[in-house]
Amino acid sequence: MKYYSTNRIASEVSLQEAVVKGLAPDKGLYMPEKIQRLPSDFFGGIGRFGLVDLAKTVAKAFFGEDIPSEKLESIVADTLNFDIPLKKVGEGIYVLELFKGPTFAFKDVGARFMARLLSHFVQEKGQEDVNVLVATSGDTGSAVANGFLGVKGIRVFVLYPKGKVSDIQEAQFTTLGQNITALEISGTFDDCQRLVKEAFVDAELNVQMKLTSANSINVARFLPQSFYYFHAYAQLARLNRTRNVVVSVPSGNLGNLTAGLFAKRMGLPLKRFIAANNRNDVFFEYLRTGKYSPRASVQTIANAMDVGKPSNFARILDLYGNAHEAIAADISPARYGDDEIRNAIRSVYEKSGYLLDPHGACGYLALEKQKNPDETGVFLATAHPAKFKETVEECIGKAIEIPSGLKTFMQREKQSEPLSAAFNDFKARLMSSK
Ligand SMILES: *Cc1c(COP(=O)(O)O)cnc(C)c1O
Repeated sequence: MKYYSTNRIASEVSLQEAVVKGLAPDKGLYMPEKIQRLPSDFFGGIGRFGLVDLAKTVAKAFFGEDIPSEKLESIVADTLNFDIPLKKVGEGIYVLELFKGPTFAFKDVGARFMARLLSHFVQEKGQEDVNVLVATSGDTGSAVANGFLGVKGIRVFVLYPKGKVSDIQEAQFTTLGQNITALEISGTFDDCQRLVKEAFVDAELNVQMKLTSANSINVARFLPQSFYYFHAYAQLARLNRTRNVVVSVPSGNLGNLTAGLFAKRMGLPLKRFIAANNRNDVFFEYLRTGKYSPRASVQTIANAMDVGKPSNFARILDLYGNAHEAIAADISPARYGDDEIRNAIRSVYEKSGYLLDPHGACGYLALEKQKNPDETGVFLATAHPAKFKETVEECIGKAIEIPSGLKTFMQREKQSEPLSAAFNDFKARLMSSK
């Protein structure tokens, strides 16, 4: 399958090129040239299938022409070596728990898939060694570092701002060793992102080393996120609750939501989506008014959604041929402030004993406030509440248990290298690892 750029200037590329390049040379995002509709009898019997089987079917629709079937099946099965359960939280409201992977956030799905796909290209197609550069404010670094840990032919550099990520987050990408190098930058997240961007355009560096990016602009990270929408629907099918399904997606860069829109385009009978924003409400405003005005992000307690210029917006526009009316018919807007998020965490816990994280809380709130009585709502819980321990404990007024998998990271020794925010220092460090 060919991939084209949303800017339509750069030429079409193969899957391998799209994955290795990340962003198209015209700065557009890659899109698959077709989205295959799955047969209706597949949906009729969907309740019979588990997560891995559903994911294999969806993966073949996108990657089947480019990856041998056996290889693709093993990539999918290795990626999804954890459960994604659906649970009832309230009347007609269900949660899809996407945080059971090794770093306790949904980004594990895309990061683990991308790591395995890239490794396939490196090993079997004679691609030279690849260096993955990733700037992180917290969650992305841990998912990417753990996804690529021990993968041959790939080296990962995680750049993070010194003193500006939580202890739990830092432990998840600085204690791994092997092919993962954590660079602790004396600067801000924006400095980290600038260093990565400068590296991609530095001619000398790109002649010497193969560099790629692992954020959600990469098709190999974002497309696999469509797998679990099918799995949510299959679980509802087993409960006889597939009429008028609404999926509420806590949204930042819109990668997760876009993957859901792809699932719908493949024929998955979802009625509509809700994009749940925090105070960073650029997409909320677009849905309401048709006007898109990106701006600097503001800090909230749902910090993984603090995005002022969502990168996957370009993919949504492309998917709908820029038609605001069609986009707004499929996606309803929602926006919540920190106090509303805190109140939701508290009241849901008091009512049902279910503990939300600040991101999932936005998804829940949107259903509680907007769901019609004839609709079944599913919200995506994108991270484990223990990743936001202090915030959550403050809301419910008591201490929470940290899962043992998270504790393990905290017991290991930190191995990070301090580095200035000057590009020449970063470049010298990269060159020294050749
Ligand atoms: C990244 C992230 C989001 C936002 O997802 P997008 O695909 O960027 O919209 C939401 N919640 C959590 C916990 C995240 O880590």
